[in-house]
Amino acid sequence: MGYKDIKHKTCPEDEGDGILLVDVETEMIPKRDKNGHKQYYCLEGHHTFSEDEDGTDGQHDRRKKR
Ligand SMILES: [Zn+2]
Repeated sequence: MGYKDIKHKTCPEDEGDGILLVDVETEMIPKRDKNGHKQYYCLEGHHTFSEDEDGTDGQHDRRKKR
């Protein structure tokens, strides 16, 4: 019930089916690149690609404060 949350995204390079990569330890938290974009694995071309946020670059300065 809402537990499965496998996210798919179309690969921008070959329009293959990309699946969300998650951290192997938690299996829940998405892997992110240095820019904070979620990582996907393309099943078509067998490569990874990053989530491409359109139009929102440079505005979100989210720094974690503890
Ligand atoms: Zn691809």
